[in-house]
Amino acid sequence: MEQTSKKTIVSLKDIFVRFDGEIILNHINLDIMEKEFVTILGPSGCGKTTTLRIIGGFVEPESGDIIFDGKKINGTPPNKRNVNTVFQKYALFPHLNVFENVAFGLRLKKLPKDVIKDRVTKMLAVVDLKGYEKRNVAKLSGGQQQRVAIARALVCDPDLILLDEPLGALDLKLRKSMQLELKDIQRKSAKTFIYVTHDQEEALTMSDRVVVMNNGVIEQIGTPEDIYNEPVNAFVADFIGEANILNGTMIDDCRIRILNRELECVDKGFGKKTPVDVVIRPEDIELTSPEKGQLVGEVMSSTFKGVHYEMSIMCGNCEILVHSTRSAEVGSTVGMCVIPFNIQIMNKLLPFYDNVIETVVSSSSEDENYFEFNLEDETVRVDGQFFEEGSGVRITLPPSALSLAGDGVGDLKDVYIESVVYKGEHNEIILESDERKWLMLSDVDEQVATYVSLAFDFSKASFELINGNREG
Ligand code: ATP
Repeated sequence: MEQTSKKTIVSLKDIFVRFDGEIILNHINLDIMEKEFVTILGPSGCGKTTTLRIIGGFVEPESGDIIFDGKKINGTPPNKRNVNTVFQKYALFPHLNVFENVAFGLRLKKLPKDVIKDRVTKMLAVVDLKGYEKRNVAKLSGGQQQRVAIARALVCDPDLILLDEPLGALDLKLRKSMQLELKDIQRKSAKTFIYVTHDQEEALTMSDRVVVMNNGVIEQIGTPEDIYNEPVNAFVADFIGEANILNGTMIDDCRIRILNRELECVDKGFGKKTPVDVVIRPEDIELTSPEKGQLVGEVMSSTFKGVHYEMSIMCGNCEILVHSTRSAEVGSTVGMCVIPFNIQIMNKLLPFYDNVIETVVSSSSEDENYFEFNLEDETVRVDGQFFEEGSGVRITLPPSALSLAGDGVGDLKDVYIESVVYKGEHNEIILESDERKWLMLSDVDEQVATYVSLAFDFSKASFELINGNREG
């Protein structure tokens, strides 16, 4: 769609929000155009609702500005902003019929009766509820009730409608038809809709643009096609649709190494021998004979899905997902080809792989062969290694040396799971503690946006004295 000719209706400028000392929105910037359907998408707890509440005036940022129609509106109360919100629990008035529910806001404004009748009637036509005026709202279906709630929000003619998971309470079938209806209502009413969901399919179906959020930051803003075809990083690629996300090395411009094979791609400017994340969508892999394949693997499973077969193919230790209209027998060896254009190269979420701790030994015992150091207010003990008290030590922990510990135990507590990305062999998990980030591998699907304890296996670590004397 043409954004350039449209006017910006609302802008968030460098918005920073903290609740109870925790950063919830970390300097976000967002411009929303007139008559646009924008969806804020992201996992639970990433800050979507808070972003909406900032626009609605229910939350004030610690810093940053909200610009509405060219004017700064920080501090303006919700009822003085020309914005209306539709919540998941749409709270219709059960004692009023459909007409009166929609008319409610207009009656508060003391508009003349004939104006109210005209506006409510027109709005009920927009949401496809003509003829339902006298119906009791409690006797309507979930979808119909939701449409009454939307009509009630639209009838007061706000510039902006904010929708917070409004279809969340509906069953899947109804949800799907309401998605299309909502888009249609938005088009017919020519209003700006800002919609919050954690459902990627919903976001792709309805939106002119999608804002992908994670952990209080905006990862990417773009059309549904941009977000799907050109994800900026592994988080976005993983969150939107199915994807094979692989560790790769950019050898040079347009040359990538993945799964021990060199392939041609179209991306440039990543430098030489740079570790990168590589995304290949399952539908972009073509099956061929093992001799002709750029990659070769064994078919582990194949399920017919109506139009295509969904296959899991093992290339060495790495699982590749393929959607193909051609079938291949389970147990057979197949070749796979991908055209350069369909290989997406992305910077790694964490550019440096090793978890390196540089610290000073706080206590130690040569007899018992251990030392201790302080890590973010916790004392960590390393058995089987001795360094003199006061020595500087660099400890390098490969991702495989990190694991999750039970509640209250572990070397580092209250560590936040920022992202979980399946890389064909393991999940790569990025965690955040008070002072830094950590990379861990896991075969379990850990839940993002939760707090966990982290344990270090120091038998897999390497140690280096950076000053002082090593003894023993
Ligand atoms: P969901 O999809 O689960 O609704 P979300 O992406 O909309 O999640 P938010 O509701 O914006 O997330 O919440 C982001 C974080 O801020 C969460 O960790 C939440 O617990 C916290 N939070 C939200 N409101 C408050 C509040 N008033 N006081 C303290 N913490 C809050």
